[in-house]
Amino acid sequence: MSAPFSWIRPEPWGVHVVPADCWIDPGKAVDRALVTHGHADHARGGHGETVATPETLAIMALRYRTGIEDETGEMPSKATPVAYGETIRLGGGVDATYIPAGHVLGSAQIVLEHAGETVVITGDYKRRPDPTCAPFKVAPCDIFITEATFGLPVFTHPPIADEMGKLLAAHREHPDRCVLVGAYALGKAQRVIAELRAAGHHDPIYLHGAMEKMCRLYEEHGVALGELRLVADHGKDDIRGSIVISPPSALGDRWSRRLPDPITAMASGWMRVRGRARQRNVELPLVISDHADWNELTRTIEEVDPRETWITHGREEALLRWCQLGQRRARALALVGREDEDE
Ligand SMILES: [Zn+2]
Ligand SMILES: [Zn+2]
Repeated sequence: MSAPFSWIRPEPWGVHVVPADCWIDPGKAVDRALVTHGHADHARGGHGETVATPETLAIMALRYRTGIEDETGEMPSKATPVAYGETIRLGGGVDATYIPAGHVLGSAQIVLEHAGETVVITGDYKRRPDPTCAPFKVAPCDIFITEATFGLPVFTHPPIADEMGKLLAAHREHPDRCVLVGAYALGKAQRVIAELRAAGHHDPIYLHGAMEKMCRLYEEHGVALGELRLVADHGKDDIRGSIVISPPSALGDRWSRRLPDPITAMASGWMRVRGRARQRNVELPLVISDHADWNELTRTIEEVDPRETWITHGREEALLRWCQLGQRRARALALVGREDEDE
């Protein structure tokens, strides 16, 4: 009998599943990686084999050509799909089941079982409804490895309906301008579009060219986004009175000069921090996050009720303290390369 949980080992560049010799969301190329979702700080190219949901693999094929043959007919990076709820044997007596994390299309928590012990790794997650992905599932476990991107009590995300209301009001009040929304290309952009549709906005939405392929990928996976047009195919007069979506990096650059007098908005959990909105010259900050806020993080730990909570990927200290005050065993992991997502 080995010591409890000695089979799961946090290292600076990822969590190592020792008996199966594979890694969760490794920050460097490894022989076998289990990937929670397609964001760049979790999904990297160059692994020998990538195990992920079919949606995440499609995103990785788009970004890194994972699972796609090269010119010589070789497949340098093998892709192994695992559907939600499906269990695969990893070897060494370890089973892995992927369940929804509610973060972006295809995002999964990974449930690992070995020697009667269960470990859940959330990857990034949220608890709010999102029309573009399956909702987070609470799974009981011994060790819960949770993200903590917004792990401070000051971070409480407002209801998305409030933020969409602000966006639609700005759009309505300025028929001679356009509203330019900076949104992360994977997840946030499609969620904003889907929420606009749900709120009854059926006009064409204009896209920066960098968003097009990911939006098409979402549509191919059953997420309806309505009529999308490329800014590049249209003149200022077509775009006047419309909503335009671009990556956050395009908000202040020359590209935006082709738009009719844009009102600059940005959809991000970081818009709660006034300085961040100012830094980017954002006139209309929209606090829309694909991560759990403080209340969601703490409620989820209570619902999962693990024997131990391991905290990673953000502001670990406050959540660690919260666990200790509630007599919950917890530790902070120091993983590298998990930057604040523009999310
Ligand atoms: Zn993410
Ligand atoms: Zn992340």
